[in-house]
Amino acid sequence: MGNLNTFPLSYIVKGKKIIIVGGTDEALNKARLAGKTTSQVVIISRSIEADFSAYAHAVHERPLTASDLDNTALVFVAEEGEDAELAKAEARRRGIPLNVVDVPAECDFYTPSIVDRAPLTVAISTEGDAPVLARLVRARIEAMLSPSVGKIASLAGRLRHKAETLIHDNAARRRFYEALVTSPEIEAAEQRGAGTAAAENLLASHAAGTGQGVVWLIGAGPGSEDLLTLRAQRLLQEADVIVHDQLVPQVVVDMGRRDAERISVGKAKGHHSFSQAQINTLIVRLASEGKRVARLKSGDPMVFGRAGEEIAALRKAGITYSVVPGVSAALAASADTATPVTLRKVSSGFVIATAHGADDGELAHWAALAQSGLTLALYMGKSISDEVATRLIHHGAPADLPVGIVVNAGRANRATYSGFLADLAASHIDFADGPAVILVGQAVAAGDWADAAGLAAQNFKVA
Ligand code: SAH
Repeated sequence: MGNLNTFPLSYIVKGKKIIIVGGTDEALNKARLAGKTTSQVVIISRSIEADFSAYAHAVHERPLTASDLDNTALVFVAEEGEDAELAKAEARRRGIPLNVVDVPAECDFYTPSIVDRAPLTVAISTEGDAPVLARLVRARIEAMLSPSVGKIASLAGRLRHKAETLIHDNAARRRFYEALVTSPEIEAAEQRGAGTAAAENLLASHAAGTGQGVVWLIGAGPGSEDLLTLRAQRLLQEADVIVHDQLVPQVVVDMGRRDAERISVGKAKGHHSFSQAQINTLIVRLASEGKRVARLKSGDPMVFGRAGEEIAALRKAGITYSVVPGVSAALAASADTATPVTLRKVSSGFVIATAHGADDGELAHWAALAQSGLTLALYMGKSISDEVATRLIHHGAPADLPVGIVVNAGRANRATYSGFLADLAASHIDFADGPAVILVGQAVAAGDWADAAGLAAQNFKVA
């Protein structure tokens, strides 16, 4: 049979008291826990030491009497002495569950670690064996659940009757509830105070049998799982289909729901790659079928991600969409090398630009920007870096402008290169495999490029 020594349950305390005997921080901790409920919290001690100001109305600085335990659901004892002994004896005599802080042998129950999204609660217990593990598990669950999930659970509760009258099929009703509790659109509406109306719309469309497809344009960040936002992670878990670019590493794609369909639309050698028009058609079609589509793009979706075209197609087809930002490659590169892309008195801004297909006019413009002190972050320029550097100098950028290149920014296998614009112009470096960002400007010299390979014979010297 089982091997738990405790039985997890949700104990009704509504309309009753929770008595806490003690006046120290330990008692305060229990008061915080009890304060999450609608019960009447009563704190009794002859000496109140901790800061109970949040519970001022509940604090009684006096001896305990047996009648304090009338109509009481739970008793916590967090001190020693006469009152503690009375509380224990009285609780036992009346059969009220008792917790004596830090004395497991005297406890009828333990308090689990709690994730509170009332009315949704998640309780985590290791029966006292590994509180550290319980805390870690709790932190993970906290990250998984959006702050407003509790409000949405209440919404679901309020709509229960209506849903039963409008949707008779059990499976269809389950699909409605699933959509309700996982939809970021409902969550956003709830945060604006318009959750009820949004939920009723959702219910109406489910009742009418029209599934609610949606496309989330999600930034995957530069390629490490832990540089994904919590929202991106949550939506990946909710998506029915994940449509991803080639540049999004497998580890990130794998973070989606296991049974979600995955479609790679990127260019890979030897694979059929989709045209932008085909991608637009694909995401519109999937959403029209009622699917929740995660359109996963590397970095930030709005930076060289062709999000503009996809959004236009979604708008035209009347499909609900939202955009989730991600860490763009330039910012991952600046973090990797501790390079402040803006720096007081050195660089008053930074410019994200493509090195590819930049014509002479644009290059002249950047050269001017770089001279003015702005930092340039050039994308898609690795294979033509020497040419770009040559032309920037040609258009008036100083040959001794600091340059830093980060290949595989934000990833464990990143590689960095540093030097000056003239070095980059003169060199044919065999860069490491992977995407790269080229940073150009005075502020680059303020970064930490100690691990960088030099672009020329001499290594990059920090100014
Ligand atoms: N939306 C992405 C950019 C996509 S365009 C973003 O915001 O980062 C593709 C270009 O992005 C690559 O050619 C390269 O210049 C850059 N890039 C993407 N991921 C990168 C990474 N991990 N390290 C360095 N550069 C990267």
